[in-house]
Amino acid sequence: MRLVPTRLTAEELDLQSDVRSYLDQRLPVGSYPLGLGMAATADPQFSRDLGSKGWLGMSLPKEYGGGGRSAVERLIVVEELLARGAPVGYHWTADRQSGANIAQNGTEEQKRAFIPAIARGELCFAIGMSEPDSGSDLASIKTRASRVDGGWLLNGTKVWTSYAGGADYILTLVRTSDDRHHGLTQFIVDTKTEGMTISPIEFLDGTWELNEVVFVDVFVPDSCRLGEVGAGWSQNTSELALERGGVDRWMSCMSILTHWAALQVDPSAGGHAVFDLGSIVARLWAFRGMSLSIARMVDVGESPVTEAALVKEMATRFEQDCVRTVVKHLGRAPDLMSEDPYESLLARAVLVSPSWTIRGGTTEVLRSVVAKGIKA
Ligand SMILES: Cc1cc2nc3c(=O)[nH]c(=O)nc-3n(C[C@H](O)[C@H](O)[C@H](O)COP(=O)(O)OP(=O)(O)OC[C@H]3O[C@@H](n4cnc5c(N)ncnc54)[C@H](O)[C@@H]3O)c2cc1C
Repeated sequence: MRLVPTRLTAEELDLQSDVRSYLDQRLPVGSYPLGLGMAATADPQFSRDLGSKGWLGMSLPKEYGGGGRSAVERLIVVEELLARGAPVGYHWTADRQSGANIAQNGTEEQKRAFIPAIARGELCFAIGMSEPDSGSDLASIKTRASRVDGGWLLNGTKVWTSYAGGADYILTLVRTSDDRHHGLTQFIVDTKTEGMTISPIEFLDGTWELNEVVFVDVFVPDSCRLGEVGAGWSQNTSELALERGGVDRWMSCMSILTHWAALQVDPSAGGHAVFDLGSIVARLWAFRGMSLSIARMVDVGESPVTEAALVKEMATRFEQDCVRTVVKHLGRAPDLMSEDPYESLLARAVLVSPSWTIRGGTTEVLRSVVAKGIKA
């Protein structure tokens, strides 16, 4: 385990200021529904606008239509978006991990087909890993791909598939043989394929981003297989460094926090609110340093899976503490139907924050990844 302290260079700070200026104009306060970090509204036009600025697919290879920039530069853009609760839902998964997975493991044809469209903000991806009987123990998945002429037939059920309802593709992990780890393979499945049923699941806050996805004899051509047959487990594991170690793991309620700090905390008055704000800022600053350090590791070709698990384990519990702190200072339960968008967002956070330590791997599982990582 290694997290080396790092800071933004002058060029990186210039990018940060460009993004801030652009977002001040593109997303004036009140012009969009506030999101809880990555669990935000899908706004395809906003995603396309970011794509036209060169701020999606930033770290994907230039020769395939990506930005050819660094993971740190991508972090800078994402941090500004999440700080405003921006509508990032449409491009989120593609930009964070599916594009990188395709760039690393895809065929020439797949890279040319997907990467330019991801960088233009034109594609919505979902990730189909979890199943009704397999979440933490992902290697026990049962959805199966059986070889047929020219491709594969998929049968089984995925669940909790975020954004599948509006997605163009589901990058799914399925079983291609009985070998627990080496019998898993990834496929890029077009959501319009016959035999797929995508049913939304209502979440606690009344949103419908989660889905159940049922495959019944879904034909997938072999050209949609991502990577070698049997390589799915290791590909999926590398994706987790991108999924777990980023700023999204500690920025879910950032717009609530900044609003609370600006309007309700008076540093000259002292007291509990000032104490709590100081404590939150201290922890935020540490998490930011950790995510930045992880992005630098990705930029030099490392796969900091253990470090990313460490960030997610600590940061998602911190996010839940933040929600509790703001509610404590409000002095009553926030109202989901409030006309104040920040109070309504806080009420949503109260309802959904328990899921922050579950999605992307539970706290217990992450502790075990960290423990194994430091022993290795
Ligand atoms: C908001 C949200 C979005 C999600 N989005 C997606 C998505 O887009 N795609 C996708 O594929 N999945 C998604 N998931 C599913 C998520 O990855 C799983 O819920 C998660 O991995 C846990 O799996 P499970 O729900 O089956 O719980 P289980 O694995 O059954 O775990 C139940 C409990 O047992 C504990 N436990 C399990 N194994 C161990 C162990 N070995 N040691 C100690 N404790 C253990 C867990 O920590 C947990 O507390 C999402 C989940 C949520 C809540």
